[in-house]
Amino acid sequence: MSGPYLRMLPPSASPLRPADIAAGIRAWVTGQGAQSLRREIKRRFGARHVFFATSGRAGLSALLRAMRTLCPQRDQVLLPAFTSFSVPSAVVNAGLKVGLYDVSPRTLAPDMASLEKAMNRKTLCVVACHLFGYPLDLEPLRELCRVHGAALLDDAAQAMGARAGTELAGTMGDAGLFSLSRGKNITAVDGGIVLTDREDLADALKVMPELFTEGSRLRPVQSLGLALALMAMLHPRAYWLPASLPFLGIGASVFDPDFRLESLDALRAGIARSVLDRLDDLNAARRRTAATLHAGLQGVPGVRVVQPAAGTVPVYLRLPLLPLSGAWPGGVAPEAQALGVVRSYPLALHRIPGLAPFLVSVGEYPGASMLAANLLTLPTHGHVRGDDIRAIVRAFQDLPAKRCARVKEVAA
Ligand SMILES: *Cc1c(COP(=O)(O)O)cnc(C)c1O
Repeated sequence: MSGPYLRMLPPSASPLRPADIAAGIRAWVTGQGAQSLRREIKRRFGARHVFFATSGRAGLSALLRAMRTLCPQRDQVLLPAFTSFSVPSAVVNAGLKVGLYDVSPRTLAPDMASLEKAMNRKTLCVVACHLFGYPLDLEPLRELCRVHGAALLDDAAQAMGARAGTELAGTMGDAGLFSLSRGKNITAVDGGIVLTDREDLADALKVMPELFTEGSRLRPVQSLGLALALMAMLHPRAYWLPASLPFLGIGASVFDPDFRLESLDALRAGIARSVLDRLDDLNAARRRTAATLHAGLQGVPGVRVVQPAAGTVPVYLRLPLLPLSGAWPGGVAPEAQALGVVRSYPLALHRIPGLAPFLVSVGEYPGASMLAANLLTLPTHGHVRGDDIRAIVRAFQDLPAKRCARVKEVAA
């Protein structure tokens, strides 16, 4: 039985298996999870220093606080005006101010003119985000940061395993970030990984008590409950349940600077170590699904799949789409939503009401505004099957017909 109301694709789902949870329990018992995870992250990403936090946001906040201790006279962090609301949440959590730069709606890459304009003597750090697993070439940003004495933070929370040329996302700046949250490339329920080769930054992180504070003793028990719930609920047969409970906030990006910095608990570290072994396979599967979706959408009028930059190897956390005409006729149909087709971040950052007091200045961000108004993303995770892909393609083929119908209504 799989009626439309029973089968519902989550927009993003990073799979957890019983074996991952068993590995988490082993790590909890032996206390060896973090050590083994650290060794593997160092090996895979060639990083000299690796730190863990209870979430990506917490890792980002810790990193910015550490940078500030090295450069106390600088207190502004420049962010792309279109990104996850977790990013400005972390900047405000760290007690810093937010500056914004625009992004190209065609490539999602930083608009260099806008970034240069935002740079000044107060710029502590520039954050670059490889959204949806599309890697950016950070060489131009590295150069600009060098000139201005600012640090570059390579936020690869959505791009673990992606490459630009020979460089891995997360390793292209002074420091890098991965997230282990539910919708990311791999998940351990939640978690953040910070990497850096800079000795001064690593030393500053090593003396941050927050990163080494174990939460409550019950934390691993809580993590276990969440991991089991996540494993069950992200299945297409079960997703209608969490999707219909708005207080779970599934899929929503919220601005909330009020969170605690804690270490990653042992159970999550063990889960992360276990899922990390499947990262390459999961990324390869997402690439195949993205390629099939792309091929299906090739001839569909009015639809443009965002193209990855030349020389990059994306990991397609989701497949981003834009309307050729500038706006989608009639918005996203409910059928498409049940197929995991969703709007991305609904606002450019300068439009988030709670963030206004922390913004240094506000300019024009036409690229980010266009993306916030129009970008749709398609799911690429392991639950997406061939018939789902055909149904998604059909939903977009039907769009022009809907527009005609609407025009007719107006004419009548
Ligand atoms: C998810 C994400 C983060 C970290 O968020 P958490 O949910 O706290 O792990 C940071 N940056 C970007 C671009 C993200 O998508």
